[in-house]
Amino acid sequence: MTGELTWSPAATDAEVGSALTTAFAQEFGGEPDGVWAAPGRVNLIGEHTDYNGGWCLPFALAHRTYCAARPREDGRLRVASRQAPGHTWEGEVGEITAGAPGGWVAYVAGVAAVLGERVGPEALGADILVDGHVPLGAGLSSSAALSCSSALALHDLVPELAGVDRAALAEACVRAENDYAGAATGGMDQSVSLRAVDEHALLIDCRDFSLTPVAWTLPEHEVLVIDTRAHHSLADGQYAARRSACERACRTLGVGSLREVHGREVEDVLAALSGDGEAVRRVRHVLTENTRVLDLVGALAEREADEVGRLMVASHVSLRDDYEVSCRELDLAVDAALAAGATGARMTGGGFGGSAIALVARDAVDEVAQAVHAAFVDAGLEAPHFLHATPSAPAHRVS
Ligand code: ADP
Ligand code: MG
Repeated sequence: MTGELTWSPAATDAEVGSALTTAFAQEFGGEPDGVWAAPGRVNLIGEHTDYNGGWCLPFALAHRTYCAARPREDGRLRVASRQAPGHTWEGEVGEITAGAPGGWVAYVAGVAAVLGERVGPEALGADILVDGHVPLGAGLSSSAALSCSSALALHDLVPELAGVDRAALAEACVRAENDYAGAATGGMDQSVSLRAVDEHALLIDCRDFSLTPVAWTLPEHEVLVIDTRAHHSLADGQYAARRSACERACRTLGVGSLREVHGREVEDVLAALSGDGEAVRRVRHVLTENTRVLDLVGALAEREADEVGRLMVASHVSLRDDYEVSCRELDLAVDAALAAGATGARMTGGGFGGSAIALVARDAVDEVAQAVHAAFVDAGLEAPHFLHATPSAPAHRVS
């Protein structure tokens, strides 16, 4: 007996909205002006390409982070999260700096500070209560769901921000995460959370963050998320190391970004990097991954599930062997899902733990999840959690 599977369900806007309004009254007194929601995401393919000016293909989950908010006249910000009880923060928006406040509050305070640069910090005073329904730290971008839900709330509450569009809000969230929360993030997560199209994946060209919605054409298949529950602490340092290897390669190649060599023969580009084995492997991943993203878009248009699956597996192998960002748990999730009949599988997100995704025929989802669960138990690992990933709506006002 290997025990029950654990599924992380998506909550409905109506359920969370009314519970959060009640909780807001307990936390701050009175009523919020509204409730906003922003989704987490999975990335179908295109990993570690965003900060290299390449392409990625995420979609928004039905799992969202919610915030109830009300403006204040005094330029002060109060922030609380139902996931961090007893850690309410309060301070002047004008006094928010990098790392102060720190921790999770920085994702919200950073957004207020960045938006405050446009219209003056005194305009950004607010009371904000957060409730996250994206698993935290699972590689499904609860961080962007948090920053984007508060950005949209502040946008809608502060009349002076009316002209700021969603692309600019996504940029503000990237800056909040980079500069205030100290989290290296390349922009994919914030773009999809704020600018997704329901029932579509989003092809993001990270050179200029232009977007192309891509219809999900495989109704017989589901994307199953396997949250491995592993969080290897080397993630941040290794992410920075991967970025700097790519920057070094750009200097050697004399280009501003690896995007500039897209379309050249990969072997010719790699030949110019010979002698720097690390750069060769990292660049080979980025260049081949960009091609796989575009190929997968084509395979979706042709409704070729097997080809989509093949490209996902090739992406995983490249991330595992060339980019070296996988780990035992992610490899096990991918291998077990494929052995149980998944059409494709790969790690998703930055790596070193977090989640894998599997493309699975709808009638085989439970069987594949069961097999992955059993493989983890047999290996002596904590049982993974599972999510049904459905291409869903972007950030929106709930009430
Ligand atoms: P991911 O984005 O993949 O979930 P990150 O490490 O980037 O993982 O972001 C997780 C962090 O975001 C948490 O450790 C916490 O600081 C913050 N966070 C996200 N959602 C919430 C929430 N609902 N309440 C408080 N903090 C949150
Ligand atoms: Mg994150």
